[in-house]
Amino acid sequence: MNLTQRAVGAIVGSAVGDALGAPFEFGPPGAFSARFPLPSAGGEMSGGGGWDAGEATDDTQMAVHIAESLLEHGGLNLPDIFTRFQRWAADDPKDIGLQTEDVLTRGLPWDQAATAHYRSSHRAAGNGALMRATPSAVYFARDGRQATMDAARHIAALTHGDPAAWEGTAIFHDLMRTALNGADPVDQLSQTLAAVHPDHRQRYATVLATDWHPDHATEFNGSVWPCLGSAVWALRTTRSYEDAVRVALDLGGDTDTVAAVTGGLAGAVYGPTAIPTRWTDPLHIPLPGSGGRILRLPHLLDLARDLTERPSTN
Ligand SMILES: [Mg+2]
Repeated sequence: MNLTQRAVGAIVGSAVGDALGAPFEFGPPGAFSARFPLPSAGGEMSGGGGWDAGEATDDTQMAVHIAESLLEHGGLNLPDIFTRFQRWAADDPKDIGLQTEDVLTRGLPWDQAATAHYRSSHRAAGNGALMRATPSAVYFARDGRQATMDAARHIAALTHGDPAAWEGTAIFHDLMRTALNGADPVDQLSQTLAAVHPDHRQRYATVLATDWHPDHATEFNGSVWPCLGSAVWALRTTRSYEDAVRVALDLGGDTDTVAAVTGGLAGAVYGPTAIPTRWTDPLHIPLPGSGGRILRLPHLLDLARDLTERPSTN
């Protein structure tokens, strides 16, 4: 499998996880399997809870806005990503994280809004930057560990003032880089952790350890630490894209995001042919802030290829 195929797996895999998880958001553990007990039986892209069958949520919508900014500007343009986020937030998305909404609607400049929110709330370690990171992880993978982790931190900081959210997103970027290179991201965790800011390394080492289980989480999985830990746990304890996403969905809680993060990594590891067409056929992404566009699979394939095959900046 080549890099582009893995990138397609990542981009599509994340969006599929998001859409599968949307109807189960904030539900109890096991709800997905209770409704769909037989793996591969079909019908899982069923919609519900206000979501149409196959409809992706804010996770994928924000991810697409990042992807389109990177491609249109030929690199990282933070004010432009922030402006796109603001346009999206103002266009009435069905779902938007509390923290993200507060930051984007404050009317403060791109480089001050998240910091101001963090200073007043002291709560900014949600998974809302991690959930949208697959396209930027694909785009910056070729620039190496340090560069991709730094890009992750900068994009995360647009909406999340807590460095814990930056570091979690940076770890995801590096895991994705490893997976896109055809290596096992779990095998190289110690090298990824060595590049994490020392203030945050131990806490991530805990949730990424082989003996960690989502039941050990000390926060709701809408927080960045257990969300990332759960995605890596799902990847580590299964052997297919489908199974990884199923166990992620069955954790309950913030199901769309945990499955989007899991699906991105599992898609890169197992590739696009491992993602069932019964899940990709109904997939669609209404994109607030884009003049009413609704994206489908062919658009995601183009995005993944363009993100991978962009001209080198080195
Ligand atoms: Mg969502």
